Amino acid sequence: MAQTHILGYPRIGAGRELKKAQEAYWKGEISQQELLAVGAEIRRGNWQAQRDAGLSRVAVGDFAWYDQVLNHTLMFGVVPARFDEGAVDSRLDQYFRLARGRAPSGEPVAASAMTKWFDTNYHYLVPEFAADQSFALDSDWLLEEVREAQSQGHSAKPVVIGPLTYLWLGRAEGEALDLLPKLLPCYEQLLQQIAGAGVDWVQIDEPILGLDLPVTWCDIFAPAYQQLAAAAPSLKLLLATYFSSLRENLPLAFSLPVAGVHIDCVRAPEELPAAVEALGEDQVLSVGVLNGRNVWRGDLGKWQRQLQPLERQLGERLWLSASCSLLHCPVDLETETALPAEQLRKLAYGRQKLNELGQLQSLLKGEAAAGEESAAPSTAAAVAAELEDIWRPQAYGERAALQRERWQLPPLPTTTIGSFPQTDLLRRVRKQFRNGEISEADYKEHLRAEIAEAIRRQEILGLDVLVHGEAERNDMVEYFGEQLDGFVHTGNGWVQSYGSRCVKPPIIFGDISRPEPMTVEWSSYAQSLTSKPVKGMLTGPVTILNWSFPREDISRSESCLQIAKALRQEVLDLEAAGIGIIQIDEPALREGVPLRESEHQDYFSWAVACFRYTCSKVKPETQIHTHMCYSNFNAIMNAIVALDADVITIESARSDLQLLHAFAGKNGGYPNEIGPGIYDIHSPNVPEREELVARLRKIAEAIPPEKLWVNPDCGLKTRNWAEVGSSLLNMVEAARALRAEL
Ligand code: GLN
Ligand code: ZN
Repeated sequence: MAQTHILGYPRIGAGRELKKAQEAYWKGEISQQELLAVGAEIRRGNWQAQRDAGLSRVAVGDFAWYDQVLNHTLMFGVVPARFDEGAVDSRLDQYFRLARGRAPSGEPVAASAMTKWFDTNYHYLVPEFAADQSFALDSDWLLEEVREAQSQGHSAKPVVIGPLTYLWLGRAEGEALDLLPKLLPCYEQLLQQIAGAGVDWVQIDEPILGLDLPVTWCDIFAPAYQQLAAAAPSLKLLLATYFSSLRENLPLAFSLPVAGVHIDCVRAPEELPAAVEALGEDQVLSVGVLNGRNVWRGDLGKWQRQLQPLERQLGERLWLSASCSLLHCPVDLETETALPAEQLRKLAYGRQKLNELGQLQSLLKGEAAAGEESAAPSTAAAVAAELEDIWRPQAYGERAALQRERWQLPPLPTTTIGSFPQTDLLRRVRKQFRNGEISEADYKEHLRAEIAEAIRRQEILGLDVLVHGEAERNDMVEYFGEQLDGFVHTGNGWVQSYGSRCVKPPIIFGDISRPEPMTVEWSSYAQSLTSKPVKGMLTGPVTILNWSFPREDISRSESCLQIAKALRQEVLDLEAAGIGIIQIDEPALREGVPLRESEHQDYFSWAVACFRYTCSKVKPETQIHTHMCYSNFNAIMNAIVALDADVITIESARSDLQLLHAFAGKNGGYPNEIGPGIYDIHSPNVPEREELVARLRKIAEAIPPEKLWVNPDCGLKTRNWAEVGSSLLNMVEAARALRAEL
């Protein structure tokens, strides 16, 4: 009979208990003892849930006080020198200092960098390797958790990140791979300790096998794993891969001296036959058939039909699992009390996915009848045909001339990215409205007052292109999701984003359409208060898609086109209402980029086309802006150019001027207008006028002044008005100073 297991389980707790306890501990409201107890309770519940669902083994070591990569960083003693100073009371406080620069004990220090975990919305803490990095094993926490699980009667399967993936994820002064010989002894020792704890299987995650891996990295896998396998011969290693197809690395993965391999059959179902083919006689094949990254129930009938022959062939050597760790899906559907039954019926969160594994196991035994065949996802061909109609009829040069004439903006026009401070009062009023404590009319009246205040302040500051300030939105995706048909908003569908931060993505449940205008009322009101142009403000189709749980019965491109259609109506309504500058934000364009280079083309072709679709019908004198806030645009520069927005505002204040060179590049670069953010909005510090003048001067060397806009690097909603007022004043004065030099 096939066995069942998971690669990992969410650690936030069904009611976000971990978040609450972490934050209380950081604030000094609870003791470390109390925090530890919350963690232990979450682990106990997680293991019990796995056992209740009949899983053969429970995952151990997937719990983290902040991040699983940081667990390893401390386990291998990769602590940068700046953390040596300033005594801490406990290992846990040192852990939190590495994570966030602060802990209840110890001096504040610059935190570790954070970046996205493969193509997910989860952020891990980047290991920093010194040139002479050494490693020393400190694995007590993991062995402790193994014992904890065993003492609760579970068969523990520790989960560790493999040595090559761990090195790949870090930042090294030289070549990270060169550190492998020094790191491997720690892994050998770790595996020996795990074997000594009476464990039979350990899971080693090497998701980098799903990337376009340099050959030097591929070549090192075999010797490295030979060394590991020899260190603890009694221990069985399960090599886990996920998020991508293995392709050219598939033979390598199966040829390693490991007792089993896990493959992601959601991302790469087509590789199952090749995996079976490559499977060694004694090797276990773990198939990730339930989507660990989404909220839908699995198609158990389909998998029953596909896996039945395999189960006959492999028996116990077939392991059923989710595609990746369940970290990336919400915890328990039981906590969704407000969703209608017909919606609940279609959904499965982490806990339900455990049960689905049990059901699939029974189906494969032939105990229950399979469900019926579900419809195959529709093809992308229809989408491609519709996306033909995406070009603004006039080229940028022609549009720019008309826009200059219409707007009469000064050189180096000043603007902001959209949002203004979301004050405590605003949050309170929104909450009262949501709870039904104040009427819609009163709520709207309050929003109008916020907008009027934002316009008044911008006029005093002397900005050239104003914004209404986004007072009506608490979140740039949720706001649109709530206005569009086709989205479902959950009450408790939280997923960890980093540390104690969780996000609650809306679910794209059906076809998307726009019953009525979404932003016109607010933009027109703002415009009625000023003679300066007010920028309309929309979230782009790709960002709405990438920050939602997508459908699985139609392609992502098809949903994206549906969103684009709705947004096009909004753009045209804004234009008709006299809003002649419209910004369509795409901060998540890069997030959807596939891990494999060969798939980029396909993604960009529909993603770019959907963006263009939203604005292809506007008049040439209507100015389209877009905004993206991250650095490292290199891989997506062609796509950004292809968006053909008249103006793009980007983050650049935190990255050195390297980014500007990409945008100003002699061969290529961004041909239209550019607003590189001139100060970092993530910091409460007010930038000095002189500092801004110097920065602008530098920027103007790279980007021709006639193409240059002046703005902060992102929205200002997390700042307060005092900071915003002073910063923007300095920014406007800096722009004026530079204009005088032109
Ligand atoms: N217009 C949005 C704002 O200013 C953009 C946010 C973002 O880029 N993430 O808040
Ligand atoms: Zn931004």
